[in-house]
Amino acid sequence: MPEGPEIRLAADRIAQALVGRKAKRVSFAFDGLKEFEPKLSGHRVVDVKTRGKAILTCFENDWVIYSHNQLYGRWYVCPAGQMPQTRRQLRLAIENQKYSAMLYSASDIEVMPRRHLDKHPFLARIGPDLLSDKPGADLIVARLTADEFRNRRLAGLLLDQKFLAGLGNYLRAEILTHAGLHPMRKPADCSEKQLLKLAKTIIRLTHRSYRTHGIINPPSLVKRLRAEGKTNREDYRFNTYNRAGQPCYFCGQQIVFSNAGGRKMYFCPSCQVTP
Ligand SMILES: [Zn+2]
Repeated sequence: MPEGPEIRLAADRIAQALVGRKAKRVSFAFDGLKEFEPKLSGHRVVDVKTRGKAILTCFENDWVIYSHNQLYGRWYVCPAGQMPQTRRQLRLAIENQKYSAMLYSASDIEVMPRRHLDKHPFLARIGPDLLSDKPGADLIVARLTADEFRNRRLAGLLLDQKFLAGLGNYLRAEILTHAGLHPMRKPADCSEKQLLKLAKTIIRLTHRSYRTHGIINPPSLVKRLRAEGKTNREDYRFNTYNRAGQPCYFCGQQIVFSNAGGRKMYFCPSCQVTP
């Protein structure tokens, strides 16, 4: 399941092909969307944003294509006139002089004026996007201490896209280890200092994952692990996630696995003391 950094990287590829260029032709597979083809064709794309797992392709005339990949949707970017090798169904194509950006398999596609985005049922109930909206630590602390969220366990809260958009299983596990907080804690049980550290860790590790394409361990640790012979990416990218029974790189204790609420959860019993 892609998390915020992977979605933002996909959006970057689409943005590189489309932003600043006039879309020569925009075409939809679904009949219900065909009326929008003339509204979008011939207009410049000005931005490609992410909101959680949704991608918003914004046009200069204020129209926006909303698409949600769900589990199976996939974007391809090709030089103009070429098609990708796939058996998937093409749902949306945005073509300009140089490139085509094509969305396959996804069925959740809508077109709306920019001013309607806030009323969209999915967008209205998700929190700020860590990589597109870039909320600061103060705003994240304010959300952690809001009545709606303060009594929720961190394990569930960090995955709730209403709280913040962009975190998934691997980021949750690594953020809580780096912040030194047990997954069963609640913001209400944390000191101001712990909440600020958590907020800063959420920002730092999400941006690091985006920059490194998913490597969460600190660069100095990665360098040491690679020098020790761990040259397979999966062996050095995480400290906690997917490492049950293996030693924590920060303290040497064995990483613990639990299956709370059907979702895999990993933590270090020494770095993340039980409340
Ligand atoms: Zn540890």
